[in-house]
Amino acid sequence: MDKILGTFNGLEFTVGDTLLEFSYLVAALLFVYGLKLLSHPESARRGNLWAAGGMGLAMLTTLLLHKNAEGAHIPISNVFIILAAIGVGSVIGWIAAYKVKMTAMPQMVSFYNATGGLASALVSLLEYPNAVAGDVGSILVTILGLIIGAIAFSGSMLAYGKLDGKVGDVMKPFMTYLNLALLIATLALGAIIIFSPNEPAEMTGLLYLLLALAIIYGVMFVLPIGGADMPVVISLLNSLTGIAASMAGFVYNNQAMILGGILVGAAGMILTILMCKAMNRSLLNVIIGAFGGGGASVGHEQGTIKEITLSDASVLLSYSQKVVVIPGYGLAVAQAQHIAHELESLLEGKGVDVRYAIHPVAGRMPGHMNVLLAEADVSYEKLVEMDDINPDMTNVDVVIVIGANDVVNPAAYDDPGSPIYGMPIIDAHLSKNIIIMKRGMGKGYAGIENFLFFNPKTRMLFGDAKSTLQKLVSEIKSL
Ligand code: NDP
Repeated sequence: MDKILGTFNGLEFTVGDTLLEFSYLVAALLFVYGLKLLSHPESARRGNLWAAGGMGLAMLTTLLLHKNAEGAHIPISNVFIILAAIGVGSVIGWIAAYKVKMTAMPQMVSFYNATGGLASALVSLLEYPNAVAGDVGSILVTILGLIIGAIAFSGSMLAYGKLDGKVGDVMKPFMTYLNLALLIATLALGAIIIFSPNEPAEMTGLLYLLLALAIIYGVMFVLPIGGADMPVVISLLNSLTGIAASMAGFVYNNQAMILGGILVGAAGMILTILMCKAMNRSLLNVIIGAFGGGGASVGHEQGTIKEITLSDASVLLSYSQKVVVIPGYGLAVAQAQHIAHELESLLEGKGVDVRYAIHPVAGRMPGHMNVLLAEADVSYEKLVEMDDINPDMTNVDVVIVIGANDVVNPAAYDDPGSPIYGMPIIDAHLSKNIIIMKRGMGKGYAGIENFLFFNPKTRMLFGDAKSTLQKLVSEIKSL
């Protein structure tokens, strides 16, 4: 392994070094392949495994072949400590992933993202004293890794608390200015450290001050953002963690970390932009707009609520030609995906064309509905994206809204005062009949009234989505 193959820039390259770099290239290719497979629900599971395989390979070859600047391998005692830490982390991760409810997935993603940010910040904190004074390039990536990692850490922890209902939204008008001042102070201190002629070891006091400022900024940045904007923020923080990880990769001159970080950073940023587009808002508006969780829609007369009986609903559905199911967060809470699939099969058996309309931010995480319905073996062809189903909505005989609220709220079109004004929605209101299944008159995530419930074509079927669907299925079977 230590046979010298050649020299580059005065450094000797051995078989082991070449194998290590080659394994990083293979790992990067596996990350890209994994990401490609993740783009379709059918192949997503495999995509995860391929990317994890790439990460496993990079970790294994690093442990076996990595050498420090003096050319020494990682001491075997350290390898055991690292393996033990990986073991403990894997067991905790496995149990947490196994136990977590689908509805709590965003919290888990946010929590794990926080640990990624913290790890990158710690790399910077530990490596900064070893930097050479005046080496602006390497100090720059170390300081950027610290700032971005710390912001991603504290911001994601707060996002976790908010999604879990432990922390509420705090929006005071002065916060935008306070946050701007904090950001400028953080960046200015970072610049002072980067360009200081002093030895890095003498600057650790300022480094800890910078860490504290970045952590406070992360909290202050997420604190005023609320309601329906959380998914966008988590995706943005995820992107920041990727960038921080790639900075840590530069600190260690580790190609796999650099590439992996860049891929996470880019994927997170693309998702952030797509989600902003799905809500018809700019990223700046999301960050300082304090959308959701607050004001009710204005300017509407509340009409009357009409209910439908199970037998009327079963007759209406059985004699329709086209039925569209619009699933939302309540379907996930009630775990009604299997029984929804049973209803679909039953109706299909009667010659009814049944499809599912999928809104990009239905539920509590991107792809939430796709994952749930895939779990219930609903065929992928039956899942139709919002943009594709909306033009056909006027031809639909019945839409069944199961536990969805914000994603079908017409206030997005006709109420400029509504916090969701401008957000694209599924046009349930254009169909011929609307059946809405929910427990009562509870609001959705954005905390606003939905006038679709008062639409003359709407009839409510109150109750827990799963038990209501079970009763509906038995009713249809007995027709
Ligand atoms: P909403 O949160 O708007 O509404 C869910 C509805 O489900 C509630 O009104 C509730 O009414 C009903 N419900 C709750 N439990 C049950 C149950 N057991 N049975 C039947 N109904 C139930 O859901 P949507 O999916 O329409 O919208 C998602 C919202 O979440 C959007 O505002 C989105 O921006 C936001 N969001 C999205 C994320 C994502 O990435 N997808 C992440 C975080 C937030 P009731 O209490 O009367 O039963």
